[in-house]
Amino acid sequence: MLHPWQGSSLLFFQSGLPIRNHRRPALRIDSETAILGVNTFTDLDLSEQRLGAIEALGWTVPTPIQAEAIPPGLAGTDVVGIAQTGTGKTGAFMVPALERLRAGAGLQVLVLCPTRELAQQVADDTVSLAMGTNIRTAAIFGGVGYGPQIEALESGFEVIVATPGRFIDHAHSKRVDLRSVNYLVLDEADRMLDMGFRPQIEEVLKGMPKKRQTMLFSATMPNGVHDLALRITREAIWVEATPPGTTAEGIEEIFYSVKPEKKPDLLAELLKEPGWDQVLVFTRTKAGADVLDARLQREDIRTDVLHSNRRMQHRTRALERFAQGKVRVLVATDVAQRGLDVDGISHVVNYDIPLDPEDYVHRIGRTGRAGATGTAITFVTGADLGALKSLEHRLGRELNRVHIPEYDYAGVPKAESSAAAKNRRKSRSPQGLGSRSADDLTAEELEALLDPES
Ligand code: AMP
Repeated sequence: MLHPWQGSSLLFFQSGLPIRNHRRPALRIDSETAILGVNTFTDLDLSEQRLGAIEALGWTVPTPIQAEAIPPGLAGTDVVGIAQTGTGKTGAFMVPALERLRAGAGLQVLVLCPTRELAQQVADDTVSLAMGTNIRTAAIFGGVGYGPQIEALESGFEVIVATPGRFIDHAHSKRVDLRSVNYLVLDEADRMLDMGFRPQIEEVLKGMPKKRQTMLFSATMPNGVHDLALRITREAIWVEATPPGTTAEGIEEIFYSVKPEKKPDLLAELLKEPGWDQVLVFTRTKAGADVLDARLQREDIRTDVLHSNRRMQHRTRALERFAQGKVRVLVATDVAQRGLDVDGISHVVNYDIPLDPEDYVHRIGRTGRAGATGTAITFVTGADLGALKSLEHRLGRELNRVHIPEYDYAGVPKAESSAAAKNRRKSRSPQGLGSRSADDLTAEELEALLDPES
């Protein structure tokens, strides 16, 4: 049987920067799977037991990442997957793992994940996928007592899903034997590195047989993860769940061209608009965050500030107050970009355009979470045009521009009177004309916009 991946060389999508979302959104499976020639799980050469378990889970069609990763996984090939939670990535690495292991032959599959929630989730999925077999799965993570875990480890498991810190504790105490592991998965590798788990990962790698199959999954592919993937895998197939440039669904992305000195005024003005309920503003520097915070407070806007010069106690309180809606605006540097998991952020404002496109994707991913909608706004000055072009290039799409003459560095067009400009400002609203690019307006809308009487 000719698998769709056969004959393909290294597939690498450097520009793919999908957003990570740790909640489990409803899964969408699109026509991409059919394009790969994998229409059902029976096309994937799986055992009867596995097909039964998959059917019991109610999965009928493999997701794109499953269609791409399962065939090479079954063939013993390493896989690097760029995929966020919600794409079906657990099945992508766990189905081949379960197909290849032998019950009763000791620990063979080790999955490392950043958080206990994810470890539990992956372990639960593994148990479901292993239904009807004698395969035993343990979830090992910190924050709970050692006792039951030690007992579990002593009774012998084929699959361990663990957070790196706790796993290393057990390994140091010689409760796990890594020598029999032949299938290693690093899940959410980017997040594990972000959380400082590199030393533990390196230690696990050191204690592991060189001859093994390695799967690395990551929502994003920053340099650190890319280098790690290249180092720990051999002749891996690289697959990606989301097309390059895709960001979280439901996020409207726009940019305002603005004179640098007008940025505070523009933000204060925007904050008067309806729907700006919970706003996260990113500045490039800590000093910039403090200045902006003070300025917004002078406008009687409830704000707080979050950056690494603030004491941990202050940072925690700021986050709590923001999450509880006690402050409407949180001004932050990139310290808040990751891990800030607050529902209901209506707007993310890149007050300073991020220089690294990856930061952009992470920043705007703080809104539109869990299926909600949100707006991501970027302020672009004349000096930022290069950064904007590079960002658009990496995203693979252009952001919609909003032009408000009195703030725009391009100035007020001659044809537009100040009354018209004022009128345009009034019309700005979530559905208003001002929230759309001038190019998107019909002739009638443009005329209405320029007519102060309308
Ligand atoms: P994951 O990205 O692995 O966390 O999976 C997200 C959710 O999709 C989980 O609830 C899975 O049980 C579900 N899921 C995974 N694969 C499929 C599939 N092929 N069809 C339907 N649901 C799936």
